[in-house]
Amino acid sequence: MSKGFSELRTRLEEIADLRNVSALLEWDQQTYMPLKGTEARARQMALLAGLAHEKQTEERLGELLEALSADPSLAEEDKALVREARRDHLKAVKVPSELVREIVETSGRAHTIWVDARRKNDFGSFAPWLAKLVALQTRKAEALGFPEDGAAYDALLDGYEPGATVAVLDPIIQRTVEISRKAVEAVSSSGRKPSAEVLKRGFGEEEQRRFCMLLVSRLGFDLEAGRLDTSVHPFTTSFDIQDVRITTRYQKNWLSASIFGTLHECGHALYEQGLDPAHRGTPLSEAVSLGIHESQSRFWENQVGRSIAFWKHWYKDLQKLFPIISDVGLESFYAAINTVQPSMIRVEADEVTYNLHIAIRYEMERAIFDKSVAVQDLPSLWNDKCESYLGIRPEKDADGILQDIHWSFGGFGYFPTYLLGNLYAAQWMAAMRKEIVDLDELMERGELQPMLRWLREKIHKQGRRYPAHELCTRICGEPLNPDHFGAYLAAKFGSLYQVSL
Ligand code: ZN
Repeated sequence: MSKGFSELRTRLEEIADLRNVSALLEWDQQTYMPLKGTEARARQMALLAGLAHEKQTEERLGELLEALSADPSLAEEDKALVREARRDHLKAVKVPSELVREIVETSGRAHTIWVDARRKNDFGSFAPWLAKLVALQTRKAEALGFPEDGAAYDALLDGYEPGATVAVLDPIIQRTVEISRKAVEAVSSSGRKPSAEVLKRGFGEEEQRRFCMLLVSRLGFDLEAGRLDTSVHPFTTSFDIQDVRITTRYQKNWLSASIFGTLHECGHALYEQGLDPAHRGTPLSEAVSLGIHESQSRFWENQVGRSIAFWKHWYKDLQKLFPIISDVGLESFYAAINTVQPSMIRVEADEVTYNLHIAIRYEMERAIFDKSVAVQDLPSLWNDKCESYLGIRPEKDADGILQDIHWSFGGFGYFPTYLLGNLYAAQWMAAMRKEIVDLDELMERGELQPMLRWLREKIHKQGRRYPAHELCTRICGEPLNPDHFGAYLAAKFGSLYQVSL
């Protein structure tokens, strides 16, 4: 390793560790920290964010990266490492540190206001803060820059899904909307309304926890290099490949929350545990994008966890743990975990309607950054879109525009990655089925490791070596294609609801 390259690695590892420490503080805040610790914690986290930004923008780092990107003797993977590290550095230097600090501070305060506004169903109190966050993110987008024929929103999208722009996303989202709308219509015209009653029968927390622990260990989550804890909003975070944390929640009268929440977060965690330790602390040991990250969670939650093959193996264990459902057959349970019902709340949405929730948010964000709508008019625009996409109109803003946390921390451009994750997950499954031909039989026997090995090899180990769209083409022989998701919905829900989609 050249002297310059090893200096680069040391610097990158330090930046990564500052972020990891910050992530640990955040994990603690959401799991065990007493409420009164909030203020000190915010200060500590802002300090760490500032230090990381300083290190990320150091001139010496820029010089090293310039020199190394002109070095033809570097191995291919080292070139990729330099390319990605340089990308991060150049983006970071474009954003002035005062703006970074202002964003962190304002987001922290706006978040508290949003929590209160949602509780009181009072959009008016959050509106001025939303306007501030939009103004700050617009400044950030302008600092980052975007092509003349592009949109300010593009610069924000790129922060979550590198390479994603309005021009790239528009046709993908449009097609996904067509697919989803058609599926919703077919399902509702079927006249079938499977009951989800079995999931509401009352389930002890300790038994739920035992089942979830069993699931994650059988999926391949290394419990000696990770933990499963409880939090209000389930999430996954990582401080190192050897220390990945997931959380879930146990609801007595809604079994899906823990089971599918855990499968979802475990999918994220398997990605983090599967990154290449040889490149620890560098972009080659980081997730390529949030869309790809979400594809891992959706893969295990939906493609696997909501399939009949999976439950052919697991349902007996679940019934043993919960005799209260011993009278319910496998087919009814499978129908219950896959009921389709347009609803107001994104996080409770089923696979068929979920992407429509994202389409609403994507269009809202576009309108916000096009400046084609004033902040005070946002709730009614939201409600109109909700009505048009889902056929229902929120009665209160708490169930509409105030429901999601993302805007409260200025996370504009984040939502589309959920939709991309759903699409990628279906595309991985289609590609995997061509290579692992007895995939359903394996699932029926509870053998999940061949699937994990496939994901590890093709996705996890690659880190940021290839941009998401290139990774997809390398794996599937074609770029992201929503029709795989369409075919998946048609097969699964066509048979569940006895209709043709
Ligand atoms: Zn997720």
